[in-house]
Amino acid sequence: MTRMPFGKFSSGWPMNLIDTHCHLTFEPLADDVPAVLARSRQAGVTGWITVGTSLADSRKAVDLAGRGENLYASVGIHPHDAKDADDAAMAALKEIAGSDRVVAIGETGLDFHYNFSKQPEQKRVFAAHLEMAKELGLPVIVHSRNAFEETLEILDRCGDGLVGVVFHCFGGSAEQAGLLLGRGYCISFTGVVTFKNAQMAREAAAAVPMDRLMVETDCPYMSPEPVRSHKPNEPALMVHTARLLAELKGLSPEQFAEQSTATAMRFFRLPSAETL
Ligand SMILES: [Zn+2]
Repeated sequence: MTRMPFGKFSSGWPMNLIDTHCHLTFEPLADDVPAVLARSRQAGVTGWITVGTSLADSRKAVDLAGRGENLYASVGIHPHDAKDADDAAMAALKEIAGSDRVVAIGETGLDFHYNFSKQPEQKRVFAAHLEMAKELGLPVIVHSRNAFEETLEILDRCGDGLVGVVFHCFGGSAEQAGLLLGRGYCISFTGVVTFKNAQMAREAAAAVPMDRLMVETDCPYMSPEPVRSHKPNEPALMVHTARLLAELKGLSPEQFAEQSTATAMRFFRLPSAETL
């Protein structure tokens, strides 16, 4: 397919990329998902995983995924909302996780930067998500902020039997990346890796082999350079992050797309017949 230039989205990415972590249920993206996806396809980002952050949002994500080709959902309760993740909410989450559009559990994890939920509660809910992921045989999308050691401690204690773990929006050091790679985990990068002050994250990305590396927007947040001031972020803009990562890895755009997409398809076990 030929891709037409498309204003500020005209990146003409030569092959198909997957946005492995977006929030298409969030305003303002949710207001016009078909247009968001059309711009994304034009730019070369042709698969999406929309990630739930609460029970209500996870329901929306599953519903949305059921209506779009190459569009999948992950269901989870964000550590910010751990206070709401009682037994009933977790049971309801498990029920919707049974949908065939659901390819992962999350985002879940620990956020000790904002501490919107108490830390013991965050830990309990993270562990409960890991149990659910094991029971359902689904990979886990982990959010970890200011809590790297505590996140690893829970994964080391409860993670046996998980089919896959990805640390999303990774901004840590190459040394921390090494600890994740040593455990067999994947690492995913957002537009943050393009920011001028993100040298550490770029060094980490350089150290992650392509069969463990994925790319994402985490939109509507964090537009990449050089369109950082463009709000909201959206999947079409992910090509800027992909371009930087490709340069960092010494790969052509084609090679980068092929390899990162292969990693995402393997990790989330996306059906190749439908995808891309
Ligand atoms: Zn997110």
